[in-house]
Amino acid sequence: MADESWVFRVVPVPGESLGHFLGRFRRANGLSHRAIADYLGVRGAWVQDWEIPSRRRKPTELQRLALAKLVEVDPKQLAKMLPPERLHLQTRLCAACYAETLVHQTVWQRADKAVCDRHALRLLSACPVCETDFRTPALWDDDRCEHCGLLFRQMQAHQQLSQRQRRSPALSAKLEASGSGQ
Ligand SMILES: [Zn+2]
Ligand SMILES: [Zn+2]
Repeated sequence: MADESWVFRVVPVPGESLGHFLGRFRRANGLSHRAIADYLGVRGAWVQDWEIPSRRRKPTELQRLALAKLVEVDPKQLAKMLPPERLHLQTRLCAACYAETLVHQTVWQRADKAVCDRHALRLLSACPVCETDFRTPALWDDDRCEHCGLLFRQMQAHQQLSQRQRRSPALSAKLEASGSGQ
């Protein structure tokens, strides 16, 4: 077994998207897209594309195996982190989830999801104060809107309840009591 211990290991959080994870991994190791591409024997532009789901380029199974070895993550887990087939193009956020775990989640980009299942809150597609689009999750190292500086976790106050929740105040109170953890 080859010794790859020169890398600083970054542990993916359950549900974390590949782009967000790759951004964290690259920053922790001070690696450029090019350096990772060279290691994997692929083009630099491809690694960049893997971090930007709207470009619709995903690592192939073989590339995932090589990547898994580099980042020391199980290939099956890496596969789960890939962007969904039916992709919502704008980067989305559940601020309530983010307040608990500081990662972008793959499930937020599913085109058939508009609401966070855990919090029954509508997913945000832009900053609720200045309406600037979110940056691609690979660049989320400062946890805030790049334009007005509002912290992602503070955006929770602007997230709306889903239609169903609005009709059921009792359930919504229950969710708040169990889900906030503050
Ligand atoms: Zn949530
Ligand atoms: Zn903003």
